[in-house]
Amino acid sequence: MSKSSSDQHGWFHIGSLYAFLDNNNYLKGLIKNTKDIITYYSHFENLNMYLDKNGFLKFKKKNNGWFQTKDVKYLIASRNNKDLDDKHIFKKIKNIFAWEKKIKKFISRHNTLRTHNLNKHESPTTISNSNYFNYNKKRILKPNFSNLFINKDEFFLMNGFDKPMRSKLIYADLLESFYLNRGKCLLSYTFSKIIEKKNYCELNFKNKKKKIFSKKVIFANGTGLKKLVKDISIYESPLMVTYPKIFNKNIVKLTPNNNNTINHFLHESQNDFYSVIGSGLSCKLGDNKDKARVLKKFKNTCRLFFKNFDKIDFKKIYFGKKVEFTKKTKRNYDFKIFELSKKSVAVLPGKFSMSFNLATNIYRRFNNQQDPPLLRLKKNLRLSKDISNTRHYKMVKKYKSKIS
Ligand SMILES: Cc1cc2nc3c(=O)[nH]c(=O)nc-3n(C[C@H](O)[C@H](O)[C@H](O)COP(=O)(O)OP(=O)(O)OC[C@H]3O[C@@H](n4cnc5c(N)ncnc54)[C@H](O)[C@@H]3O)c2cc1C
Repeated sequence: MSKSSSDQHGWFHIGSLYAFLDNNNYLKGLIKNTKDIITYYSHFENLNMYLDKNGFLKFKKKNNGWFQTKDVKYLIASRNNKDLDDKHIFKKIKNIFAWEKKIKKFISRHNTLRTHNLNKHESPTTISNSNYFNYNKKRILKPNFSNLFINKDEFFLMNGFDKPMRSKLIYADLLESFYLNRGKCLLSYTFSKIIEKKNYCELNFKNKKKKIFSKKVIFANGTGLKKLVKDISIYESPLMVTYPKIFNKNIVKLTPNNNNTINHFLHESQNDFYSVIGSGLSCKLGDNKDKARVLKKFKNTCRLFFKNFDKIDFKKIYFGKKVEFTKKTKRNYDFKIFELSKKSVAVLPGKFSMSFNLATNIYRRFNNQQDPPLLRLKKNLRLSKDISNTRHYKMVKKYKSKIS
């Protein structure tokens, strides 16, 4: 695994986080993505997400499954949360109304997803459009965590749909399947330029004399897209890794103050778990002053949330690079396909989670909008040797070998 894909948090998005956003299209895209995984990837033995006989989304416990089955809990600011305060009373009331609208949408969309038959063609639209009709407080819980610094009267708790993912297993399965379908990887080639001819493209490389000729080209080169596409921004975002785990649940804290949001996921390391913590903080690549501010703020947010912060020996922060499509400074949470020419496109998954729906859309783009065929694997897949571990796993492994 390389670059962002190895740095990422390991949070598989079904749509819980996106159920907060006003733009329905983001949630709709993730439901489509979930359906695509079940439709086009269910022949992978390790895929442990499925639809039951009612078409409800379910996960099966499996050691080598793509997803851990433990819940991700959402800790959500309630109307009396301090983050909604403002010295102007009207501004405060406005904040409360706006936030409550978001919360009600979030709950309502979750209620719909929980009881909706995902086999239905229109399910992504139905779930994402779900508004106050499905709102009720049945699933709302009172938080009670002795290891977190939170005022339990300022938050409520709800189980989301997202799951921690075993990214290495997913990548390894996809790569092995690619090899079985006679795909080839040239890992040491650094792309330099593309020359388009009448019926094909010629790809040139910085470090190789050899050229590659192809009828179609898909650029999926992360930060390298900046050279090919105009409206791309690169942000740096910090993650903290702790060993042992700092907390025993997967939890996402959401408040209207983006700087106060924090999320904690548990990942497996041999026989136990470690923590990976993220937040809503990021800075533009190259802005070192802002990076120092983000780092300081992030450390502080972690310290103010986890009671065990000072007791943990191994706490390391690294920054990963997020590549985003940004038009008119608005952030985009969807994948993006950039048409470079008739023969070449560039793709940006936005989130690793969304790469499945991106893949089916790319197929359609190059095949007259036809759906991809349903493939069946002929062989059991091995764990590809070409896939390394995630960055956080490697950090913990190194630390554990030092102390043992
Ligand atoms: C800190 C952080 C946390 C994240 N957490 C999550 C999460 O929890 N869940 C989630 O779904 N998503 C998450 N993401 C987003 C996710 O990581 C990315 O959307 C996804 O991994 C991007 O994949 P990619 O293949 O486009 O890019 P990359 O994984 O960066 O791969 C690009 C590849 O292109 C290669 N390349 C670049 N230039 C050249 C060249 N000239 N020649 C040859 N090869 C080249 C690179 O070497 C690399 O292998 C996170 C991202 C970050 C930074």
